[in-house]
Amino acid sequence: MVTLFESLVGAEPRHDAPVLFDTACVMGGSIAGLLAARVLSDRARNVVIIEPDDTAATAGSRPGVPQDQQVHTLLPAGRLWIERWLPGVSQEAQDRGASLVGPDQQFVGYDDTPQVPDGVDHQFLAIGRPLLETLVRDRVTALPHVSVLRARATGLRYDDGAVTGVRYAETGTGGQAERGERAEGVLAADFVVDAMGRSSRLSHWLEQDGYDQPPLERLQTPVNYATALFERPAKLPDLDAATVLQLFTPRYPSGGVSVAAATAIEGQQWLVMLMGYGDHRPGRTIDEFRAQCAALPPIFSDVTSNNVTREVVTYHQAESRRRHFTEAGRLPARLVSTGDAVASFNPVYGQGMSSAALHASCLASYLDSGADLDQAATGFFRLQQVVVDAAWAVSAGGDAARIDAENGTQVPEEVRQQRRAMEQIVRAALVDADVSGAFNNVSYMLRHPGTLFDPAILEKAAAATEEATAG
Ligand SMILES: Cc1cc2nc3c(=O)[nH]c(=O)nc-3n(C[C@H](O)[C@H](O)[C@H](O)COP(=O)(O)OP(=O)(O)OC[C@H]3O[C@@H](n4cnc5c(N)ncnc54)[C@H](O)[C@@H]3O)c2cc1C
Repeated sequence: MVTLFESLVGAEPRHDAPVLFDTACVMGGSIAGLLAARVLSDRARNVVIIEPDDTAATAGSRPGVPQDQQVHTLLPAGRLWIERWLPGVSQEAQDRGASLVGPDQQFVGYDDTPQVPDGVDHQFLAIGRPLLETLVRDRVTALPHVSVLRARATGLRYDDGAVTGVRYAETGTGGQAERGERAEGVLAADFVVDAMGRSSRLSHWLEQDGYDQPPLERLQTPVNYATALFERPAKLPDLDAATVLQLFTPRYPSGGVSVAAATAIEGQQWLVMLMGYGDHRPGRTIDEFRAQCAALPPIFSDVTSNNVTREVVTYHQAESRRRHFTEAGRLPARLVSTGDAVASFNPVYGQGMSSAALHASCLASYLDSGADLDQAATGFFRLQQVVVDAAWAVSAGGDAARIDAENGTQVPEEVRQQRRAMEQIVRAALVDADVSGAFNNVSYMLRHPGTLFDPAILEKAAAATEEATAG
């Protein structure tokens, strides 16, 4: 798993990929859909992205991505993958005012302790989500044979156990729409990708059409986000980002803020996010927001003392979800699902867009494997499961441990030991550069979580815990 995961992270585009499809259709034109379309553009004569929103007209927030006003950090794994497949995104992002944040430009604190530098030059992109999506979209839609159909996908068409088309209803304006008529149609396609996000209707369509629904796993993790934007008149010395997490000893009496982040984004702005679990809702007004920031490390007060450029916008997500396509009995051929439609995590771990990139990597690997395309895409879903398992282990694993500890739930001894080891690793990452490096590589999705259970890392983690307890 470790090697497979890392080969997906490091995959390069193939310029000699054979053309497999006449028309490939991607339902959903957000990050997952655009990256899948990038992969398909090398392997199909035409790639049609079906997207209900008018993405050509606006580079701003849009209804189909209601989370896009919240912080959206692009982790190193996703950034590097996108950079290889769509070169120039990071540079253009910086030219437009976003920040490429390396270890020297950020502060990371757990509880009251700054994380020890790991000596590795990982960079993440601090950027507003709408701008990032625009940069990705501009590059994908500029590729030959890629087009966007402004419509809502409403179902699938099949023949002989394989998907052969996508039903749609146009959502655009002009012509028929102005006369109150919405054109409906079927786009013939010999390969279809579901990238319709966490509310994707694909499972319902499959059941309705006589196939099996992938089992849905849910983990109740109610997260409450609040994000506001502030002027950034001059950069604070040497800092483009700050993150504080309260893990073991909640210190900040600030309305239960569990995670706070400030990132320097385009438009000379600071984007500041506060997140609380369950009943803890960070403030809705700027005054409440600033009051909560005043209880955090000083950078948060400094940043939020600047003029407001956008008021607080809140967002609630009740649960993490994943759909187990590998456990669905009967699926049609020539159909895959990617991005949040398959797994959407606790957003505070920042995994979503990097996961979408790795799902696109799975798609390239599957299509290049010579798999029989007239059978269900089991090979794809197995590869994708490696990626989803890895991301889920980090985020849902961490959440389940927190929830069980809060509720005093008894867990099996094996799980208890794994959680104990993980807690030791997190604590040791604060003080030991090697453990910090290993932990960051996994958090940034560059390496598989299995690498944390290397005996050398476990030994260091146990030693650091012993030292801390003795001290
Ligand atoms: C509060 C919050 C904060 C987050 N922060 C981060 C972060 O810091 N870093 C990170 O990497 N990720 C983050 N994420 C996750 C991230 O938003 C998603 O993982 C990412 O957008 C990829 O999702 P997607 O493309 O699969 O789906 P989405 O972005 O949700 O897009 C779904 C698309 O499908 C379209 N669609 C819907 N229905 C249809 C239909 N019937 N037909 C055709 N198209 C349709 C929609 O219009 C939309 O364009 C965060 C999420 C939340 C909720």
